[in-house]
Amino acid sequence: MSGLCFVAVCALIFWPLEELFEGDGAARPKLKDLAALWFYQSFGLWLAAGIIYEIAFFLRQFLPQPWLLLVGRQPFWLQATAALLMAEVWVYVFHRLSHTLPCLWKFHRVHHTLVDMTWSATSRQHPVDFLLIIVGANLPAMLLGVDLRPIAFLVVVERIYTVLLHSNLNLEYGWLTQIIASPRLHRLHHTPKCGNRNYAGILSLLDVLGNTFQPPMTKEQSGETHERFPALADEPTPTQSL
Ligand SMILES: [Zn+2]
Ligand SMILES: [Zn+2]
Repeated sequence: MSGLCFVAVCALIFWPLEELFEGDGAARPKLKDLAALWFYQSFGLWLAAGIIYEIAFFLRQFLPQPWLLLVGRQPFWLQATAALLMAEVWVYVFHRLSHTLPCLWKFHRVHHTLVDMTWSATSRQHPVDFLLIIVGANLPAMLLGVDLRPIAFLVVVERIYTVLLHSNLNLEYGWLTQIIASPRLHRLHHTPKCGNRNYAGILSLLDVLGNTFQPPMTKEQSGETHERFPALADEPTPTQSL
């Protein structure tokens, strides 16, 4: 049910926006992409939550109780911010490794079969890629005693922001793009020649710090009216280095 609501909310927000601003250039949702969005948002997330819960509560017995209580007593915003930072560092590092290590690229390459950026294709991912990202992103916060509410809030924000990143919107934030990733910034990551840039999920500041930030070009600069990226072949594996 949560997956259906998520797909419906995303469709209500992003579909009209893409049609409005991109017109003929907007990609139409494919049934298999919508099914993946629904599946990962429902069963995928529940499976990830179960794995996180089991690992975190096993390892928590080795942590001092006063520490866990201290973390749990912090204000909501502070716990959410800490959880966000830990999650974003994992997303950046893991994503970068996925473009570097053949054993991870073989899963991550599924995501790079996106030909047209569009909100509905956000979850075009291999299950292993999805689980490793979600579990790794949220396990540290859970392990260190962050309350479930800020973690759940963060997951919702992260999932919706990921859909925004993949939407076919000509959206850029100017200088702020060096801190927060924009759809145009992530679009660049999906072009074959720029796949080793802009790894961040939300905090593009990590790309700046990791020297993998590449500012997006406007459509006018690129000379294209609508960007369509060829699906990557089997080969483009880890051409990049850390
Ligand atoms: Zn990638
Ligand atoms: Zn992507």
